[in-house]
Amino acid sequence: MMKLRIVALTFLLTAITADAAEVALDVGHTLADPGAISARGRGEYHFNRALAPLVQAALEARGIAVRPINYDGRIGSLAARPDAARGADLFLSLHHDSLPAHEQETWEWKGQRLSFSDRYAGHSLHVSRRNPEAATSAACASAIGAAMQMADFVPTRHHYPRHPWADEANAVHWHDNLVVLHRSTMPAVLFEAGVIKHRGEELLLADPERMARMADAIATGVAACLYATQR
Ligand SMILES: [Zn+2]
Repeated sequence: MMKLRIVALTFLLTAITADAAEVALDVGHTLADPGAISARGRGEYHFNRALAPLVQAALEARGIAVRPINYDGRIGSLAARPDAARGADLFLSLHHDSLPAHEQETWEWKGQRLSFSDRYAGHSLHVSRRNPEAATSAACASAIGAAMQMADFVPTRHHYPRHPWADEANAVHWHDNLVVLHRSTMPAVLFEAGVIKHRGEELLLADPERMARMADAIATGVAACLYATQR
């Protein structure tokens, strides 16, 4: 009942305010430097790139415009991403998580020796106190985290204590020195969808139905946050 009411409210609110809202949606990493490598050897960039159009569609379904950033995986530098986002209302960077080297073990997958860790699984959100809109960034991350948990996604806690909580209940961390967050002039959130080093979660993160459900939760949170900040 509560869930229904919140969904209805979000729909109503976005219908009122969506015209002006634009999200710069950034695909993390590049083709040449794909970021983390999954337990089965797939580069993080490819997970981020697969999730992006689903998030874009879910945002557009709520009347929010999307400016795609780095969909082709060829952006020149980290700083070029927030520069390309200038003028948008929110910078949202999509990522998939790894685990520190000391947590990893090795296994063989299709004849390849690869590293994995089944120790932690789940999503998390990251914001920077160096961003000029730090409070709004944290509010948006909290809204996305709340929507994720309402949709039954379970967060990871492994970034704590290295990155202190901005909002423990919604899995939001202060991660002050991430370039894409502190170089942005607008509110900025980095979303880690889950841990691709985890052999079970890697498979879940590539499941189309679950990816669409995640995209919907992200868009619900973004819509709630944009309404609150545009009043
Ligand atoms: Zn990443």
